[in-house]
Amino acid sequence: MNPDTKRRNYSKETEKILKGLAKERAPRLLLHSCCAPCSSHVMEYLREYFDLTVFYYNPNITEEPEYEKRLAEEKRLIEAYNRQVETGDFTGMHSTGRARKIGILEAPYDPERWLRAVRGLEDCPERGDRCRVCFTLRLFEAARAAAEHGFDYFTTTLTISPLKDAPLLNEIGERAAAEYGVPFLPSDFKKKDGYKRSIELSQAFGLYRQNYCGCVYSKR
Ligand code: SF4
Repeated sequence: MNPDTKRRNYSKETEKILKGLAKERAPRLLLHSCCAPCSSHVMEYLREYFDLTVFYYNPNITEEPEYEKRLAEEKRLIEAYNRQVETGDFTGMHSTGRARKIGILEAPYDPERWLRAVRGLEDCPERGDRCRVCFTLRLFEAARAAAEHGFDYFTTTLTISPLKDAPLLNEIGERAAAEYGVPFLPSDFKKKDGYKRSIELSQAFGLYRQNYCGCVYSKR
């Protein structure tokens, strides 16, 4: 990894970009999301600035019932947020009143592709090489989808987790951006109490919070 990557303040970079956005037109952002709890704060924060679409591409969730359960929770949360926009009732939320409705784009469920990508890395510890390959697969697919559907930006909720390497995620996101020609919104969503806020929102909306990352190896 480039040593500068570790020194960057991604949270400040996000804020700088948000401040520079034109007020008249909200850019379209494709938000790769791993699950409802991780997206709760990120959606609350970004829907004030962007026309958001959640991209649910998580072939790393190797057990289908778990995959479906997380997807259903993601949809339930988006519906709840969209109801707030329809009714104008943002009680309990951090909102400036500029929040927009959120869409969802579901990618086909393809755990076989993920299992092929991580073959030989089954025994790596979390934060090791298997996670690097896993992030790369998901972020490159998000960038590809963002280009295909004409989004202005893409990013991921994954940087909200204190267990995930935010500099690595940003580095991979920027490589994917260069490959597909869609800017990556840099982020470290756990900062500025983002992670704490995701726990509050998960409790407020009664979200299912899984106790493992996603793949069968992390479950073990
Ligand atoms: S532990 Fe999480 S990030 Fe790492 S490979 Fe498994 S699902 Fe992917």
